[in-house]
Amino acid sequence: MNKHVTNFNEIILPLTREIDFEIAGDIEKESVFVSPQIDRIVVSEDLKSARLIAREGANLEEVADKARRFLDVMVKQVTGFEIKVFVDTKRKDTGPYQIGVNDGLVERGWMHDYGKGQVAYSGPVLKLAQLINEKAGELYKKAYNATDGHFPAMIDADTLHKCGYFDSHPNAVTFLGNVIEDFDAIEEFRRANSCSEGALLPQPEHIHIDGMCLNPAACFPCYPTLKGKTYLTGESFTWMGRVFRYESRNINGLDRLYEFNVRELVFVGTEEYVRECRAKALPIVEEMATFFDIDCQVQTATDPFFATVSAAKKFWQAAQEVKNEIKIPALGNDGSTKMLACGSINLHGNFFGKRFEFYCANGEPAQTGCVGLGIERWVLAAFTQHGFEPHRWPEAVRNRIFS
Ligand code: ATP
Ligand code: ZN
Ligand code: MG
Repeated sequence: MNKHVTNFNEIILPLTREIDFEIAGDIEKESVFVSPQIDRIVVSEDLKSARLIAREGANLEEVADKARRFLDVMVKQVTGFEIKVFVDTKRKDTGPYQIGVNDGLVERGWMHDYGKGQVAYSGPVLKLAQLINEKAGELYKKAYNATDGHFPAMIDADTLHKCGYFDSHPNAVTFLGNVIEDFDAIEEFRRANSCSEGALLPQPEHIHIDGMCLNPAACFPCYPTLKGKTYLTGESFTWMGRVFRYESRNINGLDRLYEFNVRELVFVGTEEYVRECRAKALPIVEEMATFFDIDCQVQTATDPFFATVSAAKKFWQAAQEVKNEIKIPALGNDGSTKMLACGSINLHGNFFGKRFEFYCANGEPAQTGCVGLGIERWVLAAFTQHGFEPHRWPEAVRNRIFS
């Protein structure tokens, strides 16, 4: 066996193929989904091996086998696709990046972190979140004449299935559970909680999951509403969507929430219309970055798909260049610079048109694309780049958020 034990709950596993830093990052991020007995998997600096850190009492043989199967699929991802950069803005503020933004916002009373990937915010944080949303909405109205909309935060499993979500990101789904419609089960649950210290959950066999989920991608609830429509050229829609992703132990401040907000833009229509719409998104991101005075890049990217489908789906995305990502530099908890994904610009081909039955005038399924801006990540990035002192912020923003 080509593994060796370093201490009683760690194992070094060799990586069977050459990987790059991006795949190493994905391995570490996705490792929280490998086994409840695994704490983390950390890739070595030379990218040649991975250190499995097991939890106390773990069956090492079992977790090593699972980790090996996980690593085997993760290392199959093709590297070396050229990263193209379409937008590259530089801020005018010459002050240093602010470290510890999440803690700083909490200390100032502008944010409350519930500790499970949810935050409440007020004051300058709220005003900035509103301004980011408003500014994007204004630009979308001007460039796309986008129609405003509102969509629910829950989504049914059939719609998610049609969107391909269970196939691409099965780890991130949240199903909702209800106490079964049973007099005795409901009474048992009530009684248990009527005088308990903390909350007591119903027994698992008294919870039923009827297929309602929390929506994990802003654009999904829009597609069922398009059924039966026909587009001569195309139409755009925009709204603020509430998004939920089960990120397990990766949750961290505003960087990685369970529940967050996305300003979404969806364009539907002919191939030409959708292509033009995507092109128009680039100057809009540039205008947003200039308005908030932040360093920002838009570049080609791929989605962090679940391990077993990652290699194939990522290859397809990279080869077709269907995903561009808005990357804004921020600081990690250790103070090192990291590129925070603050939004994405996506082309879907006729995937949703086919599945949700909306068409072009020639009878072909219509094409779609979307732009999603992660509001809380923009907030985090802007506070990182300008700090907590109002004078460093661009005037138009300062007047709105610190007034
Ligand atoms: P990551 O690789 O960081 O997980 P992603 O590729 O999953 O990001 P998308 O699916 O493109 O992200 O989602 C659109 C946007 O939503 C992201 O660019 C980001 O700004 C925001 N976002 C995604 N996941 C989270 C999260 N857990 N917390 C806060 N914002 C998020
Ligand atoms: Zn989308
Ligand atoms: Mg993700």
